[in-house]
Amino acid sequence: MFKKILIANRGEIALRIQRACRELGVKAVMVYSEADREAKYVKLAEEAVCIGPAASAQSYLNMPAIISAAEVTDAEAIHPGYGFLSENADFAERVEKSGFQFIGPTPESIRIMGDKVSAKQAMIRAGVPCVPGSEGELPDDPATIRRVAKAVGYPVIIKAAGGGGGRGMRVVHTEAALINAVQMTKAEAGAAFGNPAVYMEKFLQNPRHVEIQIIADKYKNAVYLGERDCSMQRRHQKVLEESPAPGINRKLIERIGERCVAACKKIGYRGAGTFEFLYEDGEFYFIEMNTRVQVEHPVTEMVTGVDIVKTQIMVAAGEKLPFTQKDIVMRGHAIECRVNAEDPYKFIPSPGRVTMWHAPGGPGIRVDSHVYTNYFVPPNYDSMVGKIIAHGDTREQAMARMRTALAETVVEGINTNIPLHRELLVDAKFMAGGTNIHYLEHWLEQHKR
Ligand code: ADP
Repeated sequence: MFKKILIANRGEIALRIQRACRELGVKAVMVYSEADREAKYVKLAEEAVCIGPAASAQSYLNMPAIISAAEVTDAEAIHPGYGFLSENADFAERVEKSGFQFIGPTPESIRIMGDKVSAKQAMIRAGVPCVPGSEGELPDDPATIRRVAKAVGYPVIIKAAGGGGGRGMRVVHTEAALINAVQMTKAEAGAAFGNPAVYMEKFLQNPRHVEIQIIADKYKNAVYLGERDCSMQRRHQKVLEESPAPGINRKLIERIGERCVAACKKIGYRGAGTFEFLYEDGEFYFIEMNTRVQVEHPVTEMVTGVDIVKTQIMVAAGEKLPFTQKDIVMRGHAIECRVNAEDPYKFIPSPGRVTMWHAPGGPGIRVDSHVYTNYFVPPNYDSMVGKIIAHGDTREQAMARMRTALAETVVEGINTNIPLHRELLVDAKFMAGGTNIHYLEHWLEQHKR
């Protein structure tokens, strides 16, 4: 096991990784920007290094600053968390070239999965079902593009190979709009992602977002840790997640989970990863793979009992997976509500001083947050300030516990989306389970205020 690792992230995930290090007896070096000097995990740290000013480009995205922080503190490995540099293949490469272990997959795996066209091609080769669409990148020739769209069938969606965060996509309903849409998406993709390549997929009308968590070691052992339903989204951003996915046949999940495991073995994947699928009419369609720990990993931890972050560190240190597929049993149901510092209905970010923070507790409740009373939420970063997770023997019990938890939570000084979660938890359709990816947007439209 490592003696010391550096955590190249901030916020709740930095604290989460620090906790995993403590449990493993590994020293954790925290890095922080000038805006995060007062962070809880910095105060709790044995060692912490300031890596630059508030702007992410000069701190959490500053590769030389992070690598030199690892050098001066004698860390052996770097955990990138999520966001920032976590899916940057060049960073993973620089970390390894500088003599540190990157806690994640190889730079090659990150590179393949970071390009959605090559990711999809790898998945097709590995036997993972994908959304029907173009074979790789779309060519320039309009006649060919029209032919591909006709074969796929309208509506289609044009997606940037280098896209992410819900950006770089355009839905096309008619042939008349096709060529213009392709050209616009290409131009935007070139400007936003430095890669103008686009591809085409059939646009699924009412899918759910269901993803499979996997974890693999360096010896081609891989295990899937069940699924998560993340259909509750606003602007392609997840708001609430749960595991298991309501109403989906376990045999179907097992079959797709096994495919993901086979794909991991085939591509020599190591570390934690998520295969994201759209699920419609009993079928799974791969859309992309995330090569890092995800925000919503706690729901999987609560139902499987596996500590994903700890296991990430163990496999990066060269240990074998401490469990096999047979050992993974899903117990009960877990729901996660993301707590964002924002207006609950207008979604305007609400940074500032938290004058009161009272976190919930009780059976089955877990709170992952770095916030405390008198903490200042800086305006420079993502608005998510924590997560409330509820576990129960059944989905009903998890929901009941979540309602109590949300009722107990007190946050003053800033706005949060907790009022929205309180409403969702008593919404009849949500309570019935199985709502699709458009549900929340429609709900918000109907509940406009
Ligand atoms: P990103 O990397 O930007 O998150 P994804 O490929 O994961 O992009 O897609 C993000 C979201 O866009 C999906 O969760 C889904 O809501 C929508 N989407 C993507 N592809 C399709 C498709 N073929 N049909 C319908 N919706 C899609």
